[in-house]
Amino acid sequence: MNYVTKAVCVKCGAEHKPTPDLTTCEKCGGILDIRYDYDGIRRALDPLAMKDRTDYSMWRYREFLPIGNCASCGTSVHHSYVPDADRHRLRVGWSPLYKTQRLASELGLKTLYIKDDGINPTASLKDRASAMAIVKAKEAGAKVIACSSTGNAASSLAGNAAAAGMETYIFVPERAPKGKVAQLLVFGAHVISVKGSYEDTFRLSAEAIEEYGWYNRNAAINPYLMEGKKTVAFEIAEQLGWRMPDYVAVSVGDGCTISGVWKGFKDLFETGFIDRLPRLISVQAEGCCPINRAIAEGKGWTPMEENTIADSIAVGVPRNPDKALNAIRESNGVVINVSDDEILSAMRLLGRSYGIFAEPAGATGTAGVKKAVETGLIEHDATVVSLVTGSGLKDVANAMKAAGEPLLIEPDMDLLREKIKA
Ligand SMILES: *Cc1c(COP(=O)(O)O)cnc(C)c1O
Ligand SMILES: [Zn+2]
Repeated sequence: MNYVTKAVCVKCGAEHKPTPDLTTCEKCGGILDIRYDYDGIRRALDPLAMKDRTDYSMWRYREFLPIGNCASCGTSVHHSYVPDADRHRLRVGWSPLYKTQRLASELGLKTLYIKDDGINPTASLKDRASAMAIVKAKEAGAKVIACSSTGNAASSLAGNAAAAGMETYIFVPERAPKGKVAQLLVFGAHVISVKGSYEDTFRLSAEAIEEYGWYNRNAAINPYLMEGKKTVAFEIAEQLGWRMPDYVAVSVGDGCTISGVWKGFKDLFETGFIDRLPRLISVQAEGCCPINRAIAEGKGWTPMEENTIADSIAVGVPRNPDKALNAIRESNGVVINVSDDEILSAMRLLGRSYGIFAEPAGATGTAGVKKAVETGLIEHDATVVSLVTGSGLKDVANAMKAAGEPLLIEPDMDLLREKIKA
C-alpha cells in the first residue's frame, strides 16, 4: 500500500500526479512537495507498534514513503535490508542517537543528543535521499542516473546505484575533497570534475541531463529525495519514544536536509504520532550563509560567495531556498552562523568528548548549538538534538587542520620519555 496522494507545487499550488520521474512544476518550475493520505496512515499504523518492527533501516517507515508493493511478498519492495534477490541494497538509516552527558555539560546544556548519520553506508545523511532516488529511478525504468553535488550526494548516489546495478554520471566541483572523489571512483561512477563553483557544476549537469535523458537526482529538482531525507526525523522521534526535543540543529547548504527534517516531523504531527513540533536551528558558515541571512534580515535570499572549509554546505546559490526558509519560519526556528574556526573546534569537541568523527559540515550543527547556548539564543535547560551529517574520513585534510599533527620521533625510548614528560 502506498499512501501518496499527489505532488503539490510549493510556489503556485498546482497539483501533479506522483509519477516516479517527477521533477519540478510543469506550470511554474517551482519545487514539488509529496503529499500523503495521513488519515489512511493513522488508521494503518500505531506508533506504539513500531517497536515490533525488525527492519532497522530507513524503510522501517514505509507507510510514510512513496514506495510500492512487492509482487511476490505483498509488502513494500524496498522495505527491508534482507540480502536476497531483489533486496541487495545497502543498509541506509537507523543511525544511533547518542545522549552525550559530557558534551552537554561542556556546552552548558541540560540535554544534548547527537544523531550520527556519518555511519550510513557511504558515510553521510545523503544516503537516505540516494537510496530513495534509486527506488524511483528503477520504477521509472531508468538505466542511468545523474547528479551534481558538492560531494556527498554524489558519493552516496554512486554507492547506492552500484548496489542496485545502475550506471551513474556524477558532476562535482574541482574543489571536492579527495575522500569523496575516491568514493565515486571506487563505486565505478563516471566522474566529471568541473573547473568552477558548485553553481557552475550544477548548471552543466542540468544541461547534460536534458541532453542525454538521464534520471535526475539533483537536489531540490527531484521531490522524492526529501522523502528519503525525512526518515532521519522519524528515527529521532522514535528513538526518543515519540517525545519531541525542544530544538533540532541542522547544517544548511542547499536547504534540502533541513526541509526534509521538517517534513518528517510534520508528517508525524499530521498523523498524531507526536503532539508538538521542535524548533529548528539552522546553522550555516559565516562565509556562506544566504539562507540564514534572509531569515535574519527578513528579506528574500541573495547569492553569496562559497567561502568556507565546510565544502558540503559551501552553497552560494541554494537550490531549495523556498522550502528551507518555510521550514525555518514555520518552526519558529533559530538561525546562527559559525566561523571556520568554530567548525574546527566543534570537530575536536565531538571527537574528544564522544569519539564521533565528523567532516566540517557534519560538525557545523554542533558548532551552532554551542554558539547558540553561549549567546543566549537557546536556553540552558533545553533538550537539543544535533545532527552530524557526514563522517570526518571524507575530508582528512580538514580533520588534520582541526586536530594538529602527531608527535614524530625516532624509535628511541629515551627520546620518548623526554617528549612525553615535556
Ligand atoms: C548536503 C550536506 C549538508 C546540507 O544539506 P543541504 O540539503 O545541502 O542543505 C550538510 N552536511 C553534509 C555533510 C552534507 O553532505
Ligand atoms: Zn508551480
